This record gives sequence, C-alpha cells and structure tokens, in this order.
Amino acid sequence: MSDTYIKCKYIISGSKCDKLIRDGAILIENDRIVAVGKEGDIKKLLSGHDKVDRSNHIAIPSLINGHTHLPETLLRGICDNQKLMIWLNEYIWPFEMKMSADDAYYGAQLGCLELIESGISGFIDQYFYAESIEKAAKEARIRALLCPSVFDNTPESGSLENTWIHVSKLLESKGKQNDGLVRYGIGPHAPYTVPKEYLLKVSDLASKYSLPIHIHLNETKKEVDEAIENFGMSPIEYMNHLGLTKERILAAHCVHTSPKEWQIMMDANITVLHNPQSNLKMTSGIAPVYQYLERGIKVVVGTDGNASNNDLGMLEELATTAMLQKYLANDPSVLDNAIVLTLGSIQGMKAMGVDSEGISINSPADLTLLSLQRSHSWPQNNPRSNVIYSSSSSDVTDLVVDGEFVYQDREHLTLDKWHIIEKCSDISQRILSDIGK
Ligand SMILES: [Zn+2]
Repeated sequence: MSDTYIKCKYIISGSKCDKLIRDGAILIENDRIVAVGKEGDIKKLLSGHDKVDRSNHIAIPSLINGHTHLPETLLRGICDNQKLMIWLNEYIWPFEMKMSADDAYYGAQLGCLELIESGISGFIDQYFYAESIEKAAKEARIRALLCPSVFDNTPESGSLENTWIHVSKLLESKGKQNDGLVRYGIGPHAPYTVPKEYLLKVSDLASKYSLPIHIHLNETKKEVDEAIENFGMSPIEYMNHLGLTKERILAAHCVHTSPKEWQIMMDANITVLHNPQSNLKMTSGIAPVYQYLERGIKVVVGTDGNASNNDLGMLEELATTAMLQKYLANDPSVLDNAIVLTLGSIQGMKAMGVDSEGISINSPADLTLLSLQRSHSWPQNNPRSNVIYSSSSSDVTDLVVDGEFVYQDREHLTLDKWHIIEKCSDISQRILSDIGK
C-alpha cells in the first residue's frame, strides 16, 4: 500500500462536515488520513508520497449507501408503474426465484461498479446469496455490511426453515470476523414476513455474535395497520415487545411512525435507514426524518435496491432527502447542508461499525473526489451547497477506500467493467424470458 498526497481545490473536513478548506491537501499513510489542511502546510510533511493533483476538484468524505439489495441491479427497469403487490408478485419475486448464486455474483459486481462510479465506498445490504455479494465486494475492494436475508421461499434455500439453517451456519463462521472491509449482520426481512419464532431466533443469534439486525420496519401504512390488527401493536412496538430492540437495530424506512415509537427508537438507539426516492416511487410516503434528528435518533440515507429506485447514486438521494424534509416540516431551515452530507457519509460508516470522523486526522482514508469542471459547479459561492444541490454522481472522478484508489480519473482499478455489463445484460434477458416477460 503506497502513501499518497492529494491536492484539492476544496476539502469538506471535520466530523460534522462543517469545515471547508480552500487550496487544501490530504496526506494518506497506509489506511489512515494522517494530515489534512492548507496545501502549504501539508506539503512540508511530504516524504516519498505518491502525488495526485486534483486542483480542480472537491474532496468529500466517501459516500455510503445505507440500504440496498445489491444483486437487484439485474432487475433494473423491469417494472416501474405498478402497485406494490403486483410489482412484488408478478415481477420481483418470480425474477428472483430464477436467480442462481452466480447470477447474484454478477449482479452484485454491477452494483459495485455503479457504487464506485457514484463515489460510494460502502453499502449496507440485505439479500440472499450473501457469499456471492461478499465475493463481488472483496474483488471491488469496497466496504460492505452484509445481512443475509431471513425470508421464506428464496431461490437459495427454499423454505424458511432451510433459510434459517443456511443463515445460522453462515454466521457461525462469518459473524465473528467483524473488522475488515466486509462485515456481517443479520437481515430478517420484516415483521410481516418473518414469524415470531424466527424473529426470536434472530435476536438470539444477533446477541451471540454482536450482530446488527437489518430489517424493514413501518414502510407502508398498510403494514402498520395490519400489525395493529395481527399483533395488537405497530411493528416497532412489536420488535420492542419481542426484545429485539436490545440488539443494534438498523431499520429501513420507518415512514409511518408514531411519537410512542419515536420514544422506543430513542431508548433503543435504533438507526433509521432512510430511502426517500424508493418511498416516493412506491408511494409509501415520506419518513419524518427531521423529527428523528431533532430527537437525536440516528439517520443514514440509502437508495434501496435497483428494482425500486432504480439507481444507487447517493448525491441525488441526499438532495431528495433535504428537499422532502423541508416540505414535510414546512420549514426550509431544517436539515442544513453539512448535516445532510453526514447522513450520506460519516453516519453510514458508523452504522457499518466503522469509526470515522470524515476527512480528519486518524480517520480511515475513505474519500470521494468530485470534478468541478462542469458548469453546474460554478460559481463556487458555497461549495458545500453545490455538492448537495447542484452536483450529480457523474461528477465523481476518484474514490479512495481504506487508503487505496479503486477508481482513479474515472478508470476502474479493481473491476472489468464491460465484461460485467455484458454478463449482466445476458443474465437479465435470460431470466426475463424464463418468466415470460
Ligand atoms: Zn429494502
């Protein structure tokens, strides 16, 4: 691993993304940031570092996609304008039942390509075929928190019972290795799809290996109404009632929640994984993120899978997050630009279990460089505002993960892009014709 010096026009630094350095530089040694500041000061520390000149760029802490189902890249665009149950029953689930472990591996590779090109150094996933996704993430050299799905009727295991045998066995070997780029949690799909006895088993396993529980909660109003009918309480209250909230909960969506549930979320230190574009597209609603943040509830932004979004880009998702909350609160002052950026970067790293203070001394060297070449980046009256509201994923030129470039000057250093794209196009066509679409 070589040591690197990166010169940038602007750097968004600090644990709250609240510091802006103009004409700055970052010094990386091994996997850490060892210095960041004005170029003149950092230059004095140079001793044989590789020099990278990005003087027409802005450096931001690398983005993290807080909730996705990576092999769903294969399902991109197969069904857009249908209601949730038609979308699931006629398209998503039949397609997934035809996927092999190999298909999922290539789908995850396409996901890694897209994440990298969007400046995203890590993702929090819930899917079957976790080992295929692990292989793809390791080859891509990006971070992953993989939470194998506990769900019935997957192509990997068939019944819920078989899924449980597979997942618990997998986590027996993988659950303990929680320090590298790829880490593990556990992913019960949702309280409405996973019976109580399996939720309790999930809780025991999470407790045994200190695994985060990654689950969909309170996504639609229908789900909440049915939970009240079936369990006599809302999904978050039900999780609390069963004791799962003693573990670390990463809760995707939390769109329809009550003040009573906010109290549980605060007491149990639940992290919300917020997916605004997917929630809009599926007409689920708008999660009250500004209410969560006011109460100190942790929030991380993600995209959800490509089947429902249909891209993995985080810069666009952050702009959507900010705008929706201003609308919901009827107050443009909620969610300032620095906070919005932390929800898509530093908070995501923390949710993955990685200690990071963004572009700061001693933080992991994970950073994203955006070109300032395009007209939408000018004038630079407020570079942080431009990142949130005017930039796009296609501005990303470089991605450093754990001290190493995986994407440099728009070139992939870890993956064979066109081979993967060709493979995935073939797989997708094959499965679509298999299911008669
Ligand atoms: Zn999801």
